[in-house]
Amino acid sequence: MAKLSVDHLSKSFGGNEVLKNLSFHIDEDEFVAILGPSGSGKSTLFHLIGGLYAPDSGEIQLDGKNINSRKGSISYMPQSPSLLPWRTTLDNVLLGAELAGKKERQAALEMMDKAGLKGYEKAYPHQLSGGMKQRAAFIRSLLSPQPLICLDEPFSALDEFTRSEMQRWLLDIWQENKRSILFVTHNIEEALFLADRILVLSEKPATIEGEFHVNFPRPREEDITLTEEFLQ
Ligand code: ADP
Ligand code: MG
Repeated sequence: MAKLSVDHLSKSFGGNEVLKNLSFHIDEDEFVAILGPSGSGKSTLFHLIGGLYAPDSGEIQLDGKNINSRKGSISYMPQSPSLLPWRTTLDNVLLGAELAGKKERQAALEMMDKAGLKGYEKAYPHQLSGGMKQRAAFIRSLLSPQPLICLDEPFSALDEFTRSEMQRWLLDIWQENKRSILFVTHNIEEALFLADRILVLSEKPATIEGEFHVNFPRPREEDITLTEEFLQ
């Protein structure tokens, strides 16, 4: 049984037909990227998967059950991740795990360190840059124990260097502890680097235009040697 099944999904806003008869499946432990241009309906799709919008027609199932009966079974990082302004960064990072009844303080501290957020544990969101907030929200979604993680352009606010570090880190985490990941991006290189399978959304109304299996060996961190010039 597929982990996530999206079948004949359609969604319009007024006369704006955004998703049309969209169908795809994600298997257990698969890392799938959804690649599409801006405005093609990627975030709308995630809002439907996250149960924030209702589809006009079609169905989304998680483990064979309608998604509406599985609220809280997905870890979802929206495109504009909102940190709660009254909670410290550490308490924001811990939110997803806490909601699931998990205590992950030590893991959260280690991940904040790895993501360049050491020293900001007690800072409030307004004291962080856009990229720092995005990394905090990213860690929050990784610390949630759900078996399906949906990430909507999670690295869009990061500089090239930090983005590539986060990409490699995400792959390492996934390879160590497999879960199903659905990753939305408009960046072709990012999709090619990360995913096992890439679903390409056509221009509006979006439907799956093509599907690519990525089966070349991916570079691992230890295989990449940065040249001296690059590090200067
Ligand atoms: P993407 O994430 O691929 O950039 P979106 O899903 O954000 O695309 O948007 C796809 C289309 O849906 C756009 O034309 C956008 O204006 C429209 N749209 C998204 N959300 C809403 C909404 N809540 N109300 C009306 N239109 C919306
Ligand atoms: Mg979007």
